[in-house]
Amino acid sequence: MGDQDIKKILEKAVSIGSEHVEQGNCASYIPELSKADKHNLGVCILTTGLDKYTMGHTRERFTIQSISKVISLAVALQHCGFDKVFSKMNMEPSGDAFNSLVKLDLTSDKPFNPMINAGAITTAGYLVQEVSFDDMVAYARKLCLDDGIVMDEKVYESEKNNCSRNRAIAYLLQSKGILESNVEESLDMYIRMCSLSVNAESLAGLGLVLANGGRHPESGSRLMDAHAVRVVKTIMMTCGMYDGSGEFAVRVGIPSKSGVGGGILAVVEKSMGIGIYGPSLDEKGNSIGGQRMLEYLSETMGLHMFAE
Ligand code: GLN
Repeated sequence: MGDQDIKKILEKAVSIGSEHVEQGNCASYIPELSKADKHNLGVCILTTGLDKYTMGHTRERFTIQSISKVISLAVALQHCGFDKVFSKMNMEPSGDAFNSLVKLDLTSDKPFNPMINAGAITTAGYLVQEVSFDDMVAYARKLCLDDGIVMDEKVYESEKNNCSRNRAIAYLLQSKGILESNVEESLDMYIRMCSLSVNAESLAGLGLVLANGGRHPESGSRLMDAHAVRVVKTIMMTCGMYDGSGEFAVRVGIPSKSGVGGGILAVVEKSMGIGIYGPSLDEKGNSIGGQRMLEYLSETMGLHMFAE
């Protein structure tokens, strides 16, 4: 497929995505996120052959939100190892909203998976014992191939002032003996990680590193343990789009992770990273235009895991 073909496909993807943005809304649980323009859409592809393709709003920065769960899990696996990480957490889709605490309290003694809030706060509890937030920013920059990543102070403050639900989850985790670190410190690490500012290009960078098995696409140097990368990608496939993960796997078939800032990170194994920005969300908190764009890209470029 030539450069011009790919550009045309991306152009069409953005126009298809645009047809759907009106049906969704920007996240409104904190004022900072509701200020985004819901019509913005962007897509960036970075290939293992080091080609880069962009269309639309790919430089505009927004907060990574739940996509940070991918980075946090990878770092926790690296520092604590698989057995410890999954001693307090399962790896099953929850079928519930990302911030639900119903099943955690009623039917399960452990968070369903690291991609929902309960799991990510558990992961943050491991992280605070091992690394500082500055270390995490350095990891995020390295893995996203983006030295411009910083914490968005306004979103952080806004999140911090509106985190009753996540605080409730954190204390519930503590009451069950799952979260053993200081609750407020763990919650703070979780919120800081959600407040990192990225753009579609940084997400494509992260996707490329994951597609490349954890190696830097140019130098080939190892940035992340290969087993950790495999675990992360598999959990993205089964749980990355929250309670929309099943349908997304059927329609798109690319391991992906969404965030309520409007980002989607997608990993096409051994081939490319795709970063999406589209802050208009569906009722599950996934970018509505972003999902349509990925579905179109998957179909036209044959990117589904089980493409014929
Ligand atoms: N900051 C959000 C929260 O904790 C992140 C969730 C998301 O992106 N789905 O609720």
